[in-house]
Amino acid sequence: MTVTASLIQTLHRINRQKADIEGQLTRGPKVIAAARAKLQAAEQQLADVREQMKKMRIDADSKQLQMKEREDKIHHWEGQLNTVKENREYQALKDQIAADTQANLVLSDEILEILEGLDGKEVEIKSVEKHVADMQADFEKIENEVASRKETLESELARVQAELAETEKGLSGDFKRDYLRLVAAKGEDAMAPLEDNCCSGCYQSLTPQLIEQLSTGKPVVCPTCGRLIYKA
Ligand SMILES: [Zn+2]
Repeated sequence: MTVTASLIQTLHRINRQKADIEGQLTRGPKVIAAARAKLQAAEQQLADVREQMKKMRIDADSKQLQMKEREDKIHHWEGQLNTVKENREYQALKDQIAADTQANLVLSDEILEILEGLDGKEVEIKSVEKHVADMQADFEKIENEVASRKETLESELARVQAELAETEKGLSGDFKRDYLRLVAAKGEDAMAPLEDNCCSGCYQSLTPQLIEQLSTGKPVVCPTCGRLIYKA
């Protein structure tokens, strides 16, 4: 190998920068998707509360109608009380009026409970609407940020790629071929600096021969993980 450790170190730095920028570019759409999912969840929550309120109103209306029909019947029976002649019939009417009056009291409580529930839902829907508005604003903000960041990152990536291509011109022959194969497979993990006589990629100790070779400024390949090790 004819390359120097400092060239490998430079290549490692540029490959790291490239991986970092590519990582940020990949994260952008994920961040947008996460914000969109939050917005959609909030919108679903709002639709659910509206649906619950609609059902409660229908239920209250139907119970109110039922109560009104029963009141009309009671009223009708009360009118009949004056016209019946038989005691038994009179008592039967009285019993029916009492039973339906009692049933309407229960219904009235049920209606009141639904109306109170609706008041609670009115409060809830206000807070859910606010949540939806917040999530919408967040989503738009994130979408704009990612879009403007993407432009910056893309021009940065182009610059780093050009720098990398220029630096790789310092490599040749078998070493260049091995380096390109390693970088294609491992990216920024194709290289690792020596750290306390260990490969800082896999933390395995290197043999004295390899350490010796590194101290002459030549990079070596880690026998354990296959990274190019250089002495920084
Ligand atoms: Zn290693």
